[in-house]
Amino acid sequence: MESDVIVIGGGMIGAACAYYCVLAGLTVTLIERGSIGAGTTSACEGNILVSDKPPGAELDLALTSTRLWHEVADHIGSERIEFHQKGGVVVATSDPVVAGLAALTAGQRGAGVDAVDLDAAQVRELEPNIGPSILGGAHYPQDCQVQPMLAAAHLVRHARERGARVLTGTVVTALLRDGDGRVTGVRTDSPIAPEIRSRWTVNAAGTRAGELAASFGAPIPIQPRRGFVLITTPLPRVVRHKVYSAEYVANVAAASAALQTSVVVEGTSAGTVLIGASRERVGFDSTVSLPVIRRLAAQAIEVFPFLADVTLLRSYLGFRPYCPDHLPVIGADPRLPGLIHAAGHEGAGIGLAPATGLFVSQLASEVAPTFDITAFRPDRFSEEVLL
Ligand SMILES: Cc1cc2nc3c(=O)[nH]c(=O)nc-3n(C[C@H](O)[C@H](O)[C@H](O)COP(=O)(O)OP(=O)(O)OC[C@H]3O[C@@H](n4cnc5c(N)ncnc54)[C@H](O)[C@@H]3O)c2cc1C
Repeated sequence: MESDVIVIGGGMIGAACAYYCVLAGLTVTLIERGSIGAGTTSACEGNILVSDKPPGAELDLALTSTRLWHEVADHIGSERIEFHQKGGVVVATSDPVVAGLAALTAGQRGAGVDAVDLDAAQVRELEPNIGPSILGGAHYPQDCQVQPMLAAAHLVRHARERGARVLTGTVVTALLRDGDGRVTGVRTDSPIAPEIRSRWTVNAAGTRAGELAASFGAPIPIQPRRGFVLITTPLPRVVRHKVYSAEYVANVAAASAALQTSVVVEGTSAGTVLIGASRERVGFDSTVSLPVIRRLAAQAIEVFPFLADVTLLRSYLGFRPYCPDHLPVIGADPRLPGLIHAAGHEGAGIGLAPATGLFVSQLASEVAPTFDITAFRPDRFSEEVLL
């Protein structure tokens, strides 16, 4: 075998898989069709959140992953990847939403989240520029932030310095299989490396992971979910935490393909303020939508009225790798021995990357996993969902 592990995709997830596999002593080949971080990883925000997840398997994974992000930041250097434990503040504009948020925080505290309920005055202490419509909220000190492209690049650099082979500009086109049907590597479009052999092949192809898996004969239902982000000109430190509306949690969990927006506002190290977040399933349509941009801006101004006088520098859009049950697909595929999926993290792939990478490294090392990922099994989908 040329490598113990081939990782398909050099986004945040593939980078974390390569990093942890190398740390586990495995030899790795990472294959990326563009450049490192060129997919959704370069078109997102860098929030590492426990706050937006109700109790359950994804929250457990997020708690593990947030702890691992601290280790990664210590190892790689917090400054290099702009890692900060800035904390999150969730805000509510009506009494029923305040009550719903309090029910959520109670459940989350039971699951190990540090969540502090806030009245309107306490929200204002944490965020002095917040608007008058905010009636209450919650503070989540564990929420963190990272610069995703820097993080992916440094994880891949680290893996490469410890022997990983990194092929960019190279497309994986098919799997290689032995006589027993076990996956033994990949075919690529590279004349220099048309076939690469490995013991394990990891599908970390982001929004393309679904179509790639289908072309391998082992479908997983991953589709794009579009999101816009607005960026202001650099400002002084006027937004201190990641601040988002309590409706955001419901929007994340919605099954509808139609447009959903709920405001998310945060400052960055560069001083710019990022404003999100929209969600809609429109395939890979990358047309700029002014109605979405207007709606996001209006919602942000309600939470932070000073934004009405701030200039918008630009907007961008990205496609979240969406799975119908909103859970990632992580694990060995029983239909194709030798194939591991690590994809479909939707709007949480930056936060969940280290735990995903660690788990993949444990699978590829054939050691008992240190956490339960039953909920993320690749074979959990009914035929109906896969059609
Ligand atoms: C607007 C927006 C905001 C977001 N904000 C956050 C946030 O704050 N926090 C958070 O945790 N998440 C956030 N996300 C989600 C996050 O960006 C994704 O979950 C994450 O980037 C997915 O990483 P990935 O590595 O799976 O996919 P990608 O980054 O897309 O990487 C997949 C890679 O695979 C490569 N590839 C595909 N097919 C092949 C092939 N055949 N051969 C070789 N290479 C291939 C692609 O070129 C790509 O580089 C946001 C997403 C959006 C759109």
